[in-house]
Amino acid sequence: MKNTETFEQLESNVRMYCRDVPLVFDTAVGSKIHAEDGREYLDFFAGAGALNYGHNDPRMRDALVEYLSANGVTHGLDLHTSMKRHFLESIKRDLFEPRGWDYKVQFTGPTGADAVEAALKLARKATGRSKIVSFYGAYHGMTAGALAVSGSRTRRVAGLSSDVIFIPYEDGPYGEFDGIAFLDRLARDQGSGSELPAAVIVESVQIQAGVYAASNDWLQQLRKWTQDNGVILICDEIQAGCGRAGDFFGFERSGIQPDLVTCAKSISGFGLPMAIVLIRSQLDVWQPGDHTGTFRGNQLAFLTAQIALSYWRNEEFLKLLSNNIAAMERAVAGFAEIPGIAAGRCRGMIAGVDFGRGNAALAKDAQQRALQAGVLVERCGPNGEVIKLMPPINTPTDQLEQGLKVIGESVAAALAK
Ligand code: PMP
Repeated sequence: MKNTETFEQLESNVRMYCRDVPLVFDTAVGSKIHAEDGREYLDFFAGAGALNYGHNDPRMRDALVEYLSANGVTHGLDLHTSMKRHFLESIKRDLFEPRGWDYKVQFTGPTGADAVEAALKLARKATGRSKIVSFYGAYHGMTAGALAVSGSRTRRVAGLSSDVIFIPYEDGPYGEFDGIAFLDRLARDQGSGSELPAAVIVESVQIQAGVYAASNDWLQQLRKWTQDNGVILICDEIQAGCGRAGDFFGFERSGIQPDLVTCAKSISGFGLPMAIVLIRSQLDVWQPGDHTGTFRGNQLAFLTAQIALSYWRNEEFLKLLSNNIAAMERAVAGFAEIPGIAAGRCRGMIAGVDFGRGNAALAKDAQQRALQAGVLVERCGPNGEVIKLMPPINTPTDQLEQGLKVIGESVAAALAK
């Protein structure tokens, strides 16, 4: 029997990532994942950003085992628990206090998409307006509201909200665009056909679109425009956050302070499901139960998240991260020079190797060669023409360099064919 036969027989056609990876995985530690074929792979896919601290971080794993052995509460709706208190206190100590933020934490359903739903709903409730500005190339999730603000035409279905104004992002596959001037015009021009939006939702790095990072200046102008016009700024940090773009938040280097911030994926640090919205305190206009749900108290995620947050106070971790960022930047600058590569883009620990429009088959070939050589990577971009490099941010630098070398060789081999 082919080892993927069970999945082909029984799992819905909707399955996706596994289609590029004909392997069955069983164990994983750090940046390495082991498959039933007996081989070990460097995991530069990292759960699409849910494993920024790698697989089975030993401190988190041991803390989980200890907590479970002591019969710690595992499910708690939104009841008070000791573990939730610890988690909220670490958010305050590690995220809010160092930034001087006065925010509240909302626990949503455990996927990023539900955090996006909550943020959009709250912005509409707080302003009494309905329109949302989003950007070409945006990815915010697959539930109806989140999909309505996502750019992909092919994923859209009939019946989505049309209260969305899409404008091109600062940069993208079709080049740069002055979206701030567009927004200025929209606000001033009585002929725009549109009232002011409730919110602008933005990713500090559009990763699914092909890894396009917003400049500090653009984010600052967007913050200013939203502030001047009483529009809520939602930063969707679900993929770019939790260290992926180099700082804890991807927008951090611009110095802006968003009104709402969505986090999911790596916020638990261990790949356990948890999503939250950080809400500027005066915007917390929810009434009790306005956005409820059964799975909003993943105590195991609260436990591992505290350990993950504590790493941002650990000098050794920060040093490793900074060395890794330098290694990524160096490697990507080299990939960009390979004849036939359209561009290499890197922001912190996320990078895209762009084969150019119409060249998804070449990107897929490079991805398959990398897999054969022991490195697992995903593709992104409008049609999968960009190899997406997303290693755990704390990958030992020698492993990172080894994986990057394999990627370079695979890209060159695909193009030399
Ligand atoms: N926002 C962004 C920026 C994302 O990258 C994703 C997931 N790729 C989501 C929202 C949706 O998160 P989830 O898949 O957990 O629903």
